[in-house]
Amino acid sequence: MYDAHIHLDQYPDVDRSIAQWQEAGVKGVVAVSTNLRSSYDTLLLKQKYPDFITAAIGFHPEEALPSVQDVTEWKSLLLKERSLISAIGEVGLPYYSAFSGDLPSYLPFLEDMMMLANAYELPIILHAVHSGAPIALDLLQKHGVKSAHFHWLKASSAVVKQIVAAGYYVSVTPEVCYRERDQLLAKIVPLSQLLVETDGPWPFDGPFKNRPTSPILLKESILTLSRLLGKPICEVESYVASNVRELFFCK
Ligand SMILES: [Zn+2]
Repeated sequence: MYDAHIHLDQYPDVDRSIAQWQEAGVKGVVAVSTNLRSSYDTLLLKQKYPDFITAAIGFHPEEALPSVQDVTEWKSLLLKERSLISAIGEVGLPYYSAFSGDLPSYLPFLEDMMMLANAYELPIILHAVHSGAPIALDLLQKHGVKSAHFHWLKASSAVVKQIVAAGYYVSVTPEVCYRERDQLLAKIVPLSQLLVETDGPWPFDGPFKNRPTSPILLKESILTLSRLLGKPICEVESYVASNVRELFFCK
């Protein structure tokens, strides 16, 4: 079981958490970053748990655009620690925050990140939902980006189909267990392009209300996907695990 998107640096006791998750059968996580500090923290965790963590560094698009100094330092970090880094993320376009009103100024930054993904031959992890999804898709195609992951995607069926046709990956969170919108999405994305993630420590509702978010919840996502898609649990498990390997390790 692999968590394809988690904010590991936001967990208070990472050592204890990882021990518990491994005990429960979690084989690895893709740890994403939200800013310069978070990118450093993710790489420190990667050095501590090289086999368990797949590291991504980036700037979360629901935050203010980073300063020129931060971006310059971050680019040096990318160059210096390239061997520890498996993706650029999470980056994308603001939708939920007040910064969505300033979307045009996020576009050149996202394009810069896409060009870096190309230059370093890294996949890009995108937070680009609703109206942001088709914009991000256009930019990926404009720059010929080979590997991308639309994390916790929310978009119309038509846009989801275009993302899938372009060969990009899409993930569902534990919301797939209780939210029709996510169940519909899971049925559109072929199993060969589907990932499961928690976006932890983000808290969930429904059956997960008042439960701490951890990759252990993915057992329930996989069970739900198995029922929804009419496929054996082991088949779903094997696909989502091999998709993580393919996206982040075989370019
Ligand atoms: Zn996230």
